[in-house]
Amino acid sequence: MSADLDCRTCGACCVNLPSNRAQGFGYWVEISGDDKILGRRDLVKKHVVYDPSGVPHLKLAHDGQCLGLRGEVGREVTCGIYHSRPTPCRRVEPGDDHCLRSRAAHGLAV
Ligand code: SF4
Ligand code: SF4
Repeated sequence: MSADLDCRTCGACCVNLPSNRAQGFGYWVEISGDDKILGRRDLVKKHVVYDPSGVPHLKLAHDGQCLGLRGEVGREVTCGIYHSRPTPCRRVEPGDDHCLRSRAAHGLAV
């Protein structure tokens, strides 16, 4: 089934799950110290937020969506910082557990 999943018409994993937000988890994708986004001052200013422990994460809009995401989830999306996206964004694979949970949370077919 994963071969049928097209990230360009999805974007579900680029949104903090509503269940996380309901539990008060307001941060989403964690950025590693060696992720190159941290070397781009312009991107840090626009896309990075630090949690109370000082760990960097991708900044989210009020609806939980990554600020890097362009388009509409479940229809047509692109990553506006694709070449500088952090490690967790590179690891998620269409059809893996995280993908399927994210899609299900957005009512998308799995
Ligand atoms: S949830 Fe899965 S199909 Fe959707 S963008 Fe993420 S990896 Fe791609
Ligand atoms: S940086 Fe790109 S791939 Fe990563 S969560 Fe944001 S929009 Fe999605």
